[in-house]
Amino acid sequence: MKGRNLLMIPGPIEFTPEVMASMAQPTTSHVAPNFIECFGESLEMMRDVFLAPSAQPFILAGSGTLGMDAAMANVLQPGDGVLTVNSGYFSDRMGDIARRYGGRVTNLSADPGDIPDASEVARALEAGDFAIVTITHVDTSTGVLADVEGIAGVARDAGCLVILDSVCGTAGAECRTEDWGVDIHLTASQKAIGVPPGLALLTVSPAAMEVFESRETPVPSYYADFAEWLPIMRAYEERRPGYFGTPAVNLVAALNTSLKQILDEGMDARFARHERLAGAFRSGIRALGLDIVPASDELAAPTLTAIRYPDGVGPDLVPEIGAGGILTAGGLHPEIKQTYFRVGHMGAVNAADILATLGAIERALAAKGYEFECGSGLAAAQRALCD
Ligand SMILES: *Cc1c(COP(=O)(O)O)cnc(C)c1O
Repeated sequence: MKGRNLLMIPGPIEFTPEVMASMAQPTTSHVAPNFIECFGESLEMMRDVFLAPSAQPFILAGSGTLGMDAAMANVLQPGDGVLTVNSGYFSDRMGDIARRYGGRVTNLSADPGDIPDASEVARALEAGDFAIVTITHVDTSTGVLADVEGIAGVARDAGCLVILDSVCGTAGAECRTEDWGVDIHLTASQKAIGVPPGLALLTVSPAAMEVFESRETPVPSYYADFAEWLPIMRAYEERRPGYFGTPAVNLVAALNTSLKQILDEGMDARFARHERLAGAFRSGIRALGLDIVPASDELAAPTLTAIRYPDGVGPDLVPEIGAGGILTAGGLHPEIKQTYFRVGHMGAVNAADILATLGAIERALAAKGYEFECGSGLAAAQRALCD
């Protein structure tokens, strides 16, 4: 009766008490020395979290969609060929944005729960004239994980820039941005980075900055233009004040705290923790006789699981799970929306959260009349966690 819910959706997620406390510090001037330090240090830490040591980081006030918009607006020139490696809802959005800026978009699709692999991408690239390849790291509508390393490799070989939408992946799903050849890696604060909604974060490779600098037409977005933001990011990193648009001071303070917590855990340990918890969660789901949307375990994301409703159960399962204190999300992929639900498990998530969620799913399934052995999902997950 504590009125306490556990937020297990694909963002916003549960944030650490330290991050929330940072948000609540008095708002300072965006040119105060303590804020300049906080902003500058956050930009530096982004390179370590994104594993992009030579990239230019950007911290912008806005949601993840602004990050997608900014990436496209700055490196796409009208008439450029764009190949979207499409795994669902947010891949469609990336295509829409590219079209808006005059891109010739080719959609390389797969059935829901699947994603084109590197060899299919290589064939598509040979068959056309492309400047940009977009990848959705974890498609939030299906829980499908992309082979970023493989796809970015073939895109690079074809001379394309790679834009990675990792809004549902960064700091949860492994991404070796620079080693793998990702040019623009973008995310939003409210997912695995662990900061309340309101920041778009990007790292941009030297090659992508060169494309931006040599463009022949002006960037068609005023707010998202790197030409306006680059001097600001440089100034803060050099611990000087700068102004183009007021930074989200409290959110940047929270970001600074979260990035420190992420680096204290260590990137490898963090990726491994997400894999381990996701694996235990899937074991529990399967033990209940339920299926996941991704076509195989290799395609299942470490940050989010999409689960098909069993026969006789439908979308009213989600509020029933909610009545048990765990908030999950309904389907999102337009073709299969009514047939599955989604559980986010990223950021500060721990084993207790995974077990609490499976427990609430079991009770909700029982309430809906689904026949299964009560406790079997919990036992399977617990066994995986004890291993
Ligand atoms: C959440 C999400 C977005 C959109 O982010 P907003 O902050 O809601 O604008 C884009 N891409 C992916 C993969 C996401 O998960």
